[in-house]
Order: sequence, then C-alpha cells, then structure tokens
Amino acid sequence: MVSRVIPVDPFDLVIFGGTGDLARRKILPALFRRFCAGQMQEGTRIIGAARAEMDDVDYRAFVAEALIEFNDGHGCEEGTIAAFQRILSYVTLDALGENGWADLAAKMHDGRVRAFYFSVGPSLFGALAEKLHEHGMADSDTRIVVEKPFGRDLSTAKALNRALADHFDEGQIYRIDHYLGKETVQNLMAIRFGNMLFEPLWNSQYVDHIQITVAETVGVGGRGEYYDRSGAMRDMVQNHLMQLLCLIAMEPPAKFEPDSVRDEKLKVIRALDEVLPDQIVRGQYLAEGDKPGYLDHVETTDSTTESFIALKVHISNWRWAGTPFYLRTGKRLKARSSEIAVVFKATPHSIFGPEAGRHRNILTIRLQPNEGIDLDVTIKEPGPGGMRLIDVPLDMTFTEALGPDAEDVADAYERLIMDVVRGNQTLFMRGDEVEAAWAWTDPIIAGWETRGDDPIAYESGSSGPEEALALMHRDGRKWREVRA
Ligand code: NAD
Repeated sequence: MVSRVIPVDPFDLVIFGGTGDLARRKILPALFRRFCAGQMQEGTRIIGAARAEMDDVDYRAFVAEALIEFNDGHGCEEGTIAAFQRILSYVTLDALGENGWADLAAKMHDGRVRAFYFSVGPSLFGALAEKLHEHGMADSDTRIVVEKPFGRDLSTAKALNRALADHFDEGQIYRIDHYLGKETVQNLMAIRFGNMLFEPLWNSQYVDHIQITVAETVGVGGRGEYYDRSGAMRDMVQNHLMQLLCLIAMEPPAKFEPDSVRDEKLKVIRALDEVLPDQIVRGQYLAEGDKPGYLDHVETTDSTTESFIALKVHISNWRWAGTPFYLRTGKRLKARSSEIAVVFKATPHSIFGPEAGRHRNILTIRLQPNEGIDLDVTIKEPGPGGMRLIDVPLDMTFTEALGPDAEDVADAYERLIMDVVRGNQTLFMRGDEVEAAWAWTDPIIAGWETRGDDPIAYESGSSGPEEALALMHRDGRKWREVRA
C-alpha cells in the first residue's frame, strides 16, 4: 500500500506566534513533514511572525533546531532541512501595535491561498483580525486558523466569534480541534458509515452505554497558571471529548461535507441533557514521592480547579434516549490512553444456560497509543467440558493490519493544516458548534461553583477518584481499565 500525496498549489502561510511552543512542537514539524512528503510545490512560503527581534537567517536556524528536537525521528534525507529553510522567512510584528504589519503585507502574493495561523493567546485574535483587515490582507483568498481555547465560556466565545466575523466569513475561519485530525477519529466515521454491520445496531436498542476516556500520565507541569484558570472541563471536555461524543452519536450526514457533518454534530450538542450534580465527579491529583501534586503547580494553594472529571451524560433524542454516555479525562492517571468503547447489550436470552455467563460485544476505538480498533466477540472456550463462553478481541492495530505505511500516516496537525490550504472545513468546528458546547458546559460549571463543590483528591498513577468508579458501579456498569 502506498500513501498518495496530492501536491497543493503554492500558498502563503503566516504563523502568528511563530516562535511559540505550539509552533515549535507541532505546527513547524507538521509543515516540515508535508514538505518532505512532497506536498508543497515550488513557491510555497511559510512566514513566522512574532514579537521576538529576528531576521530570516535567525528564524531559519530557530526552526531547524525545533525540527531536530521535535520531529520524532521522521526520516528526511540530508539536505531537506536546508531545502525547507529556504521557504521560511520571518517578520517581527506586534499584534497590538503598528510594528511589522507593512512588512508582512509586502510579503504577500496576490491570487493564491493565504492562511494565517493564530498560534497566540485568544486575547489577540480580535486584534489580529482587525490588523489583517486594516493592512489589506483579509480578502476572499484569506483563511484564518484559530487554536483552542476558543473562549472560557459562552459569552467570551461569542465575543471571539463576533470579532472574527467583523472581517471574515464563517467559511474562512478554521477552528482547530486536533482530535478531529486524528486518523482513528476519522476512521470512526468510516466504520460507522462505510460498513453495513454497525449502523443498524448503533442506537439505544442495542447499545448499553458508551465510554469515552482520555487519560494522561503527565501533570499540569509548567502550564499550571493557565490550567488553573481552566480545569479539565474547559480544557478537555468542552472541546475534545465533546467532539468525540458528537461523531459517535450524530445521525448519518447526507454527505461527507463540512456543513452536512457539522449540522449533525450541532444537533447532538443541542440534544444533551442538563447534567445533575450526582452525575459529575471532579478530582485533583496528589503528590507522589518526588512528583508534585496539583496544588504544588499552581499559585492558589486552595485552588478548587479539577485535574480530573467524570460525567454521565444523556442525549435526549430518538436514537439515544436511555443509553448513557460516560466521559472521563484526567491528568496523572495510571496510563496514557484514549479510547471510545461502545458497549453493546447482552443477548436477550442465553441458550447456553447460566453457567455460560452473559457476554457483551464491545467495539473499542483506540486513539492512543496503538491507534486501532478492537471488537470483542464471544466464542466458545476451546476444549471439552461443556459450553463455556469467552470474549476474544478481533484486533485491528493499524500498524499491524496496514503495514509500515500506517506508521507514516500524517499526524493530526499535518492533515488539518493541509485541509486549511485545500479549503476543506469538515474537520473544523463551526462557530455555532463551539457556542452550543459552551452553552451546555456553562451551567455545569456554574452549578459546582454555586454549590462550592471541592474536587476529590486522587492518587497519582491511579484511575482517578473512587467516586468516579462508583458513578458507573451504581448503574451496574464498570469503566474499562485505563491501560497503555
Ligand atoms: P507561547 O507563549 O509559547 O507563544 C506565544 C507566541 O505568541 C510567541 O511567538 C510570541 O512572540 C507571540 N506573541 C505574544 N504576544 C504577541 C503580540 N502582541 N504580537 C505578536 N506576537 C505575539 O504560546 P503557545 O504555547 O505557543 O500557545 C499559543 C496558543 O496556542 C495559545 O492560545 C495556546 O493556548 C494554544 N495552544 C497551545 C498548545 C501547546 O501545546 N503549546 C496546545 C494547544 C493550544
């Protein structure tokens, strides 16, 4: 199997915040890999723009260092970094002042796709949009890419949407959620809508419940100050877990096209029920040995921000009424593991008698590590001695099933940035989706703030607070083990 690379016409990409952490760790390595793959044609240009005083030569050296540090050993022949450096340039620029804007405008080519990646804090989004307009760079060929966090509640998200809408149409705005760029997440749609096998069973009549877990082993580390103002609900659930939930739960879109898909996702968010206090468990990790606890990372020693959250969520629509969705995410957990598990109901009657036990099919979509899909199928335990049943996984780990090319699949940032250049918004969040997600999230947060709920302390390296286990136990269900 050979992956197909379709070159795109030459484009100009400006990275505002081109010296920042995200640019170094994700955006520049992603661009480099697409360059190595042969997707960029002669004449394509990448322009870093940030406050630091640098010239083109400094920036090229800066990017080469970032590539060496963060490119995960992706193989490129010698000389490729030098070739990539030739398409790079840099402008020292202040989003809040006049400095640098005329220089940037002078670098733009007419009549080609222009993308501006806002890899800066959201407080600068409005100023950047305004400046692009003032300096004649906000025309119909322009696309802007904005990073999370897209607001911290409904009113700030609305303000950001308004600020961008002053100068750009919705069709020009690409709100990134890198989870949507993951290969397996797109495979989720391929599995649902490309097979006859699953979709007829994809409803409350056959699905007992769905679990979505995004577990991290890292703590908040150096991001403590930012994270403490956010917490797991805002940082992970409102965006990433919500997007996964939407793709699992949405109705089949008529076409795999941006608005068809996003219309269906929006309907899911609007059908989410209010979450009651006893359907929420929040936690904060404790120190372990020489590893600091959550409170050691943040300024307020009595912070009540959660580093873990588990929720039981209901979708009130024809397809899902009665099938709960359990979501959980947290830091400093026992393994780095993200997965979606669709747990089907047991057969209505066991012809094998009680000793055979009751079994369920589980479809697991693993996002990381070992991206792939498992389907637990019930079979007879081999050997004599009667009909005993066991569950065995039909395991499709992509790298095993698809060979070495599967390891070379573009990562989320590579795919999403090239989608921006190609003008495909299917995997980006629309403004109304983001607002609907905040409209659901806000009352949940307001609820625990009003009640003064404190997060429950949990051991580092555990699966989170015991109470999160109880959230499922009392429904006669259990979480799948968090394991790498
Ligand atoms: P950072 O602090 O490392 O870098 C910020 C960049 O913005 C720098 O290049 C800086 O020069 C530039 N900048 C700041 N003020 C400016 C101004 N007035 N004019 C021009 N440039 C200015 O931040 P980061 O970690 O790269 O994050 C950037 C954005 O991406 C943030 O909104 C962050 O929340 C988001 N994000 C970051 C990550 C990550 O892994 N770092 C992940 C997801 C989202």
